[in-house]
This record gives sequence, C-alpha cells and structure tokens, in this order.
Amino acid sequence: MGILDGKVAVITGGASGIGAETARLFAREGAQLVIGDLQAERGRALVEEIGREGGDATFARTDVTRTEDVAALIAAAVDRWGGLDVLFNNAGIHVHQGLLVQNSVEEFDEVLAVNLRGPFLGMQHAIPHMIARGGGSIICTSSTGARVGHMRNAGYCASKAGVLGLVRVAAIEYADQNIRVNAILPGIIATPMGLADPWLHAASPEERMATLARSQPIPRAGLPEDIARVALWLAGDLSAWVTGQEIVADGGYLADSQRG
Ligand code: NAP
Repeated sequence: MGILDGKVAVITGGASGIGAETARLFAREGAQLVIGDLQAERGRALVEEIGREGGDATFARTDVTRTEDVAALIAAAVDRWGGLDVLFNNAGIHVHQGLLVQNSVEEFDEVLAVNLRGPFLGMQHAIPHMIARGGGSIICTSSTGARVGHMRNAGYCASKAGVLGLVRVAAIEYADQNIRVNAILPGIIATPMGLADPWLHAASPEERMATLARSQPIPRAGLPEDIARVALWLAGDLSAWVTGQEIVADGGYLADSQRG
C-alpha cells in the first residue's frame, strides 16, 4: 500500500531538483502523475525512469506563467485519469539581481511571474477539478527567503512571501470543499538552483556541498528528498488537519539567530 495509492498528482518544475525527487517519491507511493516543466528532454527522461520502476507518469511541457499552458497541464491529468487530487506548485526561478535600486523591472516581473503568478494559475485551474472530486491538497514551494531577507534577492524574497499570502487565502476559501493548501519553506537545497547560488560559485562540487553542510545547524547539505518527504506528508491523508500553514524544512537555519 502506498501513501498516495489512487491519487492523481500534478507537479510543476518536476523535471529537476526538488520537483523531480518528489515525482519519484510520489510515483513510488502509488500516485499517477503529470510532470509539467519547461525542460522537455529532462521531463521525458524522468517519465521513462519512473515507468521503468513501475510508476505511472506523463510529461506536459509547461510554462507556468502562461494561462493556456497551465490549463493544458491540469487538463492532461483530468483527461488521462479522471480527476486531480494533488497539485505541487513547485516551479521557480532564482534570478541573481543587484541591490534593489539596480534591479531591472523586467527581471523583477519575470521572477514574480514564475514564482507567484505560476502558483496562482495552478490553483485557479486545479481547484474546480478538486471540488468536483470532493477535495484535494495543494502544496506550494515557498522559501526561507519569505521569512528573512537575502541581499540582492528583492524579487525572489517578495515572490516567495507572496506565495504565503496566496496559500492562506486559498486555504480559507476552499476549506469547506475539503481542499487543503500549504506551503513548504525549504532552506538551501543541493539542486541545480541551490548549487548555482553566487556565494558558492568559486567552489568545486565537493567544496559546495561542504559549504552547504555548514549553512544550518544540521551539519549536512539539504537534499531534494528532504523536501520531497514533506511534500508527500502534505499530499497524503496523514496531514488531514493541516491547512494554510508554512512548513519550514531547513535543517534549523531559521531557528539559529546567527544564520536565520
Ligand atoms: P531547479 O532544480 O532549478 O528546478 C526547477 C525547475 O523548474 C527547472 O526544471 C526549471 O526549468 C523549471 N522552471 C523554471 N521556470 C519555469 C516555468 N516558467 N514553467 C515551468 N517550469 C519552470 O530548482 P529547485 O531547487 O528544485 O527549486 C524548486 C523550487 O524550490 C523553486 O520554487 C525554488 O524557488 C524553491 N526553493 C529552492 C531552494 C534551493 O536552495 N534549491 C530553496 C528554497 C526554495 P529551467 O531549468 O529551464 O529554469
């Protein structure tokens, strides 16, 4: 018996990093999946990998900033499996800008479009299907950057804080339809995005992982599976009484006054 047996899930940004690891875990736990991402080659390779391991997944090339793409992504799940139970709004970008006054409006808008409009569109298109199904779970990947400021990250931190507002509103508007909506706030995680952070740039892969291991009280690098397991808990019925919440998964980073 898998935790997600019989559940249909959509994962955005599912071809890489946290989304890809969550796709693998959800499939192992019995979910039928649609993976949406800009990266078609990586997404299709992951679908094949999941299929070889006995899972059931498909890929839809999706730009989460585009209404028509998000509508098609959700429709792909509903058409293939007859409904939708779980939406993981996870696609995101981290554009390294200058200080706030140096930011270009175009880059700021781009970050907001992916990281905030994307989850909004996902909710808009998923919720009617979840209502028809009798409920569901929506999970959004925010960041510890929603709680503390990071230099040269105005757009990123603003977008991730905005996600928390979206989560709270959706949670209270659809609680009576049995739809739960929660956010995960990862600290730094060893993914292509996390490892591209400029403060790690000069280091070798081994040095980067060692630096990540020193970045929070738990003395190892945060891994995509650390976040995938939180997403699994939120997706399944073990978290049935949890909605509108911010689940921090950061190895203790925010709890540490020297770091968080
Ligand atoms: P990742 O490895 O870069 O994966 C993100 C995936 O989303 C990539 O395949 C990316 O494609 C895709 N994507 C980007 N823009 C998209 C769009 N408009 N439509 C559809 N897909 C799009 O990053 P990750 O670290 O797993 O990040 C996943 C989520 O966790 C993000 O929301 C991120 O902000 C959040 N997060 C990450 C960390 C961390 O340290 N890694 C910490 C806190 C929060 P491209 O490669 O083409 O961009």
